[in-house]
Amino acid sequence: MYTMTYLDYAATSPLLPEAIMAMHEAEQKYFANASALHTPGHLAMNKIEETRELLASLINANPDEIIFTSGASESNNTVIRTFENHEINTSPLEHHSIIESARVLRGREKPALYSYMLANNEIGDFLPLDEIVKQAHAEGSFVHSDLTQILGKMPVDVKQLDIDYATFSAHKIGGPIGVGALYVRNGVPFKPLIIGGNQENHRRGSTYNTVGIIGFGAALKYAIEHKTWEIYDTKVRALRDELARRILAEIPGSSLNTELDNSLPNILNTSFEAAEGESIQLYLDAEGIIVSTGSACASGDIKPSHVLMAKSHDAEVAHSSIRFSFGLDNTKEDIEKVMKVLPGIIDRLQQISTIERKK
Ligand code: PMP
Repeated sequence: MYTMTYLDYAATSPLLPEAIMAMHEAEQKYFANASALHTPGHLAMNKIEETRELLASLINANPDEIIFTSGASESNNTVIRTFENHEINTSPLEHHSIIESARVLRGREKPALYSYMLANNEIGDFLPLDEIVKQAHAEGSFVHSDLTQILGKMPVDVKQLDIDYATFSAHKIGGPIGVGALYVRNGVPFKPLIIGGNQENHRRGSTYNTVGIIGFGAALKYAIEHKTWEIYDTKVRALRDELARRILAEIPGSSLNTELDNSLPNILNTSFEAAEGESIQLYLDAEGIIVSTGSACASGDIKPSHVLMAKSHDAEVAHSSIRFSFGLDNTKEDIEKVMKVLPGIIDRLQQISTIERKK
C-alpha cells in the first residue's frame, strides 16, 4: 500500500473525517436548492447558516458580513474587482489571484484599496498588516487581507485587525476544495463578481454549494472545538523548528527563507545551494515524502517564485527552495523520515550540479 509523509498542508489539507461524514450525510439529506421556499430548501439553508455563524464567531464578524464563494481565489478576485479603476496597492508577496487581478483592474480613482496578507503562504513570514491598516484608514482607503493560511493556525479577530475585507478557504483547514468565504465589513464598498442570482443577499449569484459549505462548517467546528491554533503554536511549531534546526546542522549549503520567530508556526521554507527545488521534490516524492517547491516548474511555470524573489532577490535561492508545511497530524517520526533521506539527496544533487556551492 502507498504510504506517505505529507508535508504539503499549505497547498491543501486532507479532508477531516468529520468533514467527510458531514458531507456524506449532506449529499443525501440536504441536496435541495437552498434558495427554494419548500421545506427541504429551508433545511439546506439552515445548515448553510450554521456554517456562516461558525465562521462569524471564529473571526469575530457578524454573520451577514460573510459571503460564501468557490474559494480564496474568488474571494480575492471579488475584492479587487470591487475596486476596479481605483488605486490598488498590494504587497509583493500576495497570491497570484490578488497580483494578477490588481494588475489588470487597477486605476487611479480614490478611495484606494490595500491588499496585504497577514502571513505569506510560501515562506510563512508575517507582514506588517497593522501598519498598513493605520496608514490606509488615515487616508480614507480600505484594507483587504488574504487570511487563507491564517484561519485555524492563529486566532483571527477581524474587528481587532480593523480590516474591511478578508479571504478564507475551506481546504486549508480540512474542509473541501472549492468552498471559500469573504468577510465584508458592514458599510464598505462591494461589487458582486458573479451577477445574475439573488443568493447571498444579491452579493454572489449561483446555486448554493450546500454540501461543500456543510463540509466547511464541520472543519470550522473542529477548529473551534480543538482550539487548533493552540496545537499549531505548541506541537506543530516545535516540529517545524526541530526540522529547521536539523537541516541547518546536518546539510551543508542549507539556509532558511522563513523567519522562524516571525512566521506562521507550520511553514518552513528552505534553500539548498547548488540543488534544484524540483529535483529535491521529486527525489523526496520517490521516498514517499510530499513537499512543494518555490519555483513552480512542475506546475508548468518556469519562473522562480515571486515571493522568494521578493524576499531573497536571488534566483538561485528561489530555484533551490523547498517548502515543508505541517498539519495537525505530523509527528516526530515524520522529521526522522525526512532527515534520513534529505542529506543524501542534497549531497547527490550538489555532486552533479554545475553550480558551485559557496560555502
Ligand atoms: N490565497 C492564499 C494565500 C493561498 O495560499 C491560496 C491557496 N494556495 C489561495 C489564495 C487560493 O485558494 P483557493 O484554492 O481556495 O482558491
